[in-house]
Amino acid sequence: MDPRLQVNPDPRRALPSVDRLVRAIRDEAPDTPRWAATEAARRQLAAARAEPDPSLNDANMIAKATRLAESLARVRPRPVLNATGVVLHTNLGRAPMADGAAEAAAAAARGYSDLEFDVASGRRGDRLGGLATKLALLAGSEAAMACNNNAAALMLTLDTLARGREVVVSRGELVEIGGSFRVPDIMERAGVRLVEVGTTNRTHPHDYERAIGPDTALLLKVHRSNFEQSGFVREVDLATLVGIGRRHDLPVVEDLGSGTLVDLGDHGLPAEAHAPSRLRTGADLVCFSGDKLLGGPQAGLAIGRAEVVDAMRRNPLARALRLDKMTLAALDWTLAALLDEARHDEIPVLRSLRQGGGDIEPRARALADRLAATSHAGLRAEAEPDRTPVGGGSLPGFELDTWVVALRGGPGAASLVDRLRGADPPVIARVRDDALLLDCRTLRDEDLDAVVAAVDVALQPAAR
Ligand SMILES: *Cc1c(COP(=O)(O)O)cnc(C)c1O
Repeated sequence: MDPRLQVNPDPRRALPSVDRLVRAIRDEAPDTPRWAATEAARRQLAAARAEPDPSLNDANMIAKATRLAESLARVRPRPVLNATGVVLHTNLGRAPMADGAAEAAAAAARGYSDLEFDVASGRRGDRLGGLATKLALLAGSEAAMACNNNAAALMLTLDTLARGREVVVSRGELVEIGGSFRVPDIMERAGVRLVEVGTTNRTHPHDYERAIGPDTALLLKVHRSNFEQSGFVREVDLATLVGIGRRHDLPVVEDLGSGTLVDLGDHGLPAEAHAPSRLRTGADLVCFSGDKLLGGPQAGLAIGRAEVVDAMRRNPLARALRLDKMTLAALDWTLAALLDEARHDEIPVLRSLRQGGGDIEPRARALADRLAATSHAGLRAEAEPDRTPVGGGSLPGFELDTWVVALRGGPGAASLVDRLRGADPPVIARVRDDALLLDCRTLRDEDLDAVVAAVDVALQPAAR
């Protein structure tokens, strides 16, 4: 028995006091702050009281409580290494920002700034002015604005253009994006009446025509961000929808979800993701996320006709959905980099998407060689070509060529993937069949040391 706890052997009455357990935690991990040790001790003792576990001895109670305290004290989100190959991984924070964007955000955060101040005149300035100019230039649009995220941009659009009135959407586009974003729910919350047209698989122009009435305020097209339809399907394309809108004098809005401001068509990416082209097709407004294909911070970007954008900016809801100064600085930096073609490679998402399989292969071979050289008994490391989705609700059905390092043998892929998550920093990998895959599309050269170290730790017999 651990003398620090001085408990008696009956599992119920054997529980130490909070104070004793806190002391033991801080003995074990001296850097743990007192608040975290106290909270961990309370939780651990409450759990032990609720469900007495005879196998829980002093040593493993201290070990468990210490791990919990460390986890409570950790600053989150915590950096991880993305070895999934999914460039826009929703659960791993979507787009990594450029170093320059992160520095701009930090500078805006640390000191005072001209956030809403016009230095030349000494008067109050426009918070969105600089950003809106850059965004409109990139988009070739009359006007532009940005708010907290794309869900907010859609909400603001609906509230501005259609509050209390009807919005027509195809049944094939009433999507759920994940993280509880559902188009019908957003519409209800925005106070508009959803008029569904067509069927799940087929919507025709006359379905829209028939649904339009005196209360119709808007025709909305929603990008099917995370699934594909094939077989007996028919959708009304944006150009046709714009024609219908014109005939009935109704605005047409597209929620593009994941949009780019640079044409990635040369790199094999689908043309539909290029937001300025969607606007040129005739939509009155297009909205999309800042942290998907654009490669910037979380934000909702809206580009389109001045009349519509101005009305959105005057909407009182815009204040509740506005960008904070850190995001604003990071987004402004990102837009400036996008305006300068020579700087596109400073944006990690663009750099990553523009890489072909051949650019990734040398990294995969280098990693495979290093892992093979550590020669853990029975573990084989091989570099192999593979395919990976872009993720983040972008480009469903579209995959990029990539290279992975496949680990087979050793403790087995299922065990290894768990152990790699326990590394510091955690390594997030994929499993397919009997292989653990480390996808090198989302690993940088400078990450390889940490990946090799994580595999090394994961293969120690004592790995937990
Ligand atoms: C991702 C997505 C959204 C939500 O965007 P956020 O920036 O996450 O709020 C809305 N609509 C579509 C079509 C999307 O793909």
